[in-house]
Amino acid sequence: MASSSPRRYLIAGNWKMNNTVHEARELVQPIVHDVGQQTDVHVVVCPPFTALAKVAELVVNTNVHLGAQNLYPKASGAYTGEISAGMLRELFVSYVILGHSERREYFQESDAFINEKVKVALENMLKPILCIGETLSQREAGKTLEIVKTQLIAGLKDVSLDKADNVVIAYEPIWAIGTGKTATPEMAQEVHGEIRKTLKDVFGATIANSMRILYGGSMKPNNAAELLAQPDIDGGLIGGASLEAKSFVKLVEAALARKE
Ligand code: PEP
Repeated sequence: MASSSPRRYLIAGNWKMNNTVHEARELVQPIVHDVGQQTDVHVVVCPPFTALAKVAELVVNTNVHLGAQNLYPKASGAYTGEISAGMLRELFVSYVILGHSERREYFQESDAFINEKVKVALENMLKPILCIGETLSQREAGKTLEIVKTQLIAGLKDVSLDKADNVVIAYEPIWAIGTGKTATPEMAQEVHGEIRKTLKDVFGATIANSMRILYGGSMKPNNAAELLAQPDIDGGLIGGASLEAKSFVKLVEAALARKE
């Protein structure tokens, strides 16, 4: 990302189904201590629902922002086990991960359902982090760009121009998630460039150039710099490396170093 770019790096930690309230506190306190006062890189942590309230208390008035890992696209009602956008807002949540490949795979979430959630998030002033990405067999069949574009266009269907730049895209090749295999910077940039091009077709160049596209898939302190150096990679969605404060802080520092 060029230093003249209007996009600030965003480093988001997806804690998945990890950390009790006590463990969440232990994890977030050093993050707040080390990077909670800088404002050059946008930092987001996404704890499980049960730890949101505690983490909200610990990040208040800092530059560590709160994200959730899902929502249900109804305001209230008989949806046992689900959580609404309004409930998240009440806990000072500002981001929400939607369409993560684990939800697509284990909970059969379709592009249409994910699109409903994206729109409900935006209506409720939550910034969706819309995850898209191909499986290994799709990549090997040469279908990566087609799959990613289809998921992107379907996930953003009917998103209005005035809300589009609140959406963050996360390109996460499924074969790289939690496997230790990372896309090379060139492989990632090829897809990110195509995502930016598609965003331009849908929303126009000005909006597309202001939207952040994160890379996710085994991003670690030792490979972050070269990924973040790519022109269309605006940060990372981090799973494993976000569960250890030191490595998460190092990722934020890698983005800070790129910025200088
Ligand atoms: C993720 O699940 O969003 C992710 C990127 O995980 P990891 O960093 O562990 O590959």
